[in-house]
Amino acid sequence: MNIHEYQGKQLLKAYGAPVADGVPIFTAEEAEAAAKKLPGPLYVVKSQIHAGGRGKGKFKELGPDAKGGVRLAKSVEEVVAHAKEMLGNTLVTKQTGPAGKQVNRLYIEDGADIDRELYLSLLVDRTVGRVAFVVSTEGGMDIEAVAEATPEKIITVAIDPETGVTDADVAKINGALKLSGEAAEDGKKLFPLLYKAFSDKDMSLLEINPLIVMTNGRLRVLDAKVSFDGNALFRHDDVKELRDITEEDSKEIEASKWDLAYVALDGNIGCMVNGAGLAMATMDIIKLYGAEPANFCDVGGGAGKEKVAAAFKIITADPRVEGILVNIFGGIMKCDVIAEGVVAAVKEVGLKVPLVVRLEGTNVELGKKIINESGLNVISADDLDDAAQKIVKAVKGN
Ligand code: GDP
Ligand code: MG
Repeated sequence: MNIHEYQGKQLLKAYGAPVADGVPIFTAEEAEAAAKKLPGPLYVVKSQIHAGGRGKGKFKELGPDAKGGVRLAKSVEEVVAHAKEMLGNTLVTKQTGPAGKQVNRLYIEDGADIDRELYLSLLVDRTVGRVAFVVSTEGGMDIEAVAEATPEKIITVAIDPETGVTDADVAKINGALKLSGEAAEDGKKLFPLLYKAFSDKDMSLLEINPLIVMTNGRLRVLDAKVSFDGNALFRHDDVKELRDITEEDSKEIEASKWDLAYVALDGNIGCMVNGAGLAMATMDIIKLYGAEPANFCDVGGGAGKEKVAAAFKIITADPRVEGILVNIFGGIMKCDVIAEGVVAAVKEVGLKVPLVVRLEGTNVELGKKIINESGLNVISADDLDDAAQKIVKAVKGN
């Protein structure tokens, strides 16, 4: 689960991180009141969307010469003018995809005078099974480009969970970021508290790009992208409250109500599979035969008929879906339950695209019988290879 920049900053501030004063707002009037509360003379007006690259982003409605999604202002009037221009418009960044995201809230922040822009993130480094700091002196811009062109400028410091962030870790990070004097002292406080926030709240990513050294020599968290581990949300009611469902895919919201593992993708073949591994393999084989999956969908092991029907409805409701592949290996999940769910869903919402069903495992004969006797126009397949070829052919021949 992702949250907005200002929410991430508020959370980090509660742990003692140095962040600027700021106010989230929804209207131009609120922008004026917000700016008046800040000291000036420099203000920053920041689009709050769940995507990065806002500074270099462009508003669809404003043309190529208009300013981006993060703007500096030198007066309250300028803040208001920017807010009027930005609110309600669609910001397209590297991370939003071409459709962009509507900007419904802004964060009005006290501006900082920047000396250097650094990169700092915390993530779970699976290769060492630890939470790691990833840092670079090359912050503020596209870190992926830095990783590509000059990977030696990115330094990873993995943290031992037994000790937490040690003095030696702090020294390594300070060294990697070339921090000295007061900035290094700030680092000494900042790095352990970021690690604590990350661990306490079960974050999966905490990215500060940029972390800045200000002209007064002090550190400040200038941007914050925070993602939480969805599987740990049940123990963080405070985090759950930060969810902004207007930023999420409507199909994924519906899927989460049914506890389905569903991720919307860009292709045109809808998939319904049981088991994450089989779902991955199904997506791979669709690609192998030259098409793209429209989603990842794992209905899980013990799904009932209603859950299967809900999954099928979410898949068919996606306008991009031009064909559906149901690929079930019945273990705990029984093939007849899947068949009943699919038949029930089709009776309710109809079926306008080709459907290939491959069933194998527990109660497979009964499952096939239910589908065959339902009168549905189903293409049946014997194995995964056969199923993938059939659905790709059906969609391409459409
Ligand atoms: P992103 O483009 O979505 O990553 O948004 P950021 O919050 O990282 O802001 C983009 C850029 O705007 C930063 O890299 C800075 O160069 C600039 N910026 C943001 N806040 C300030 C500020 O307080 N003062 C100054 N001078 N520049 C800022
Ligand atoms: Mg940034």
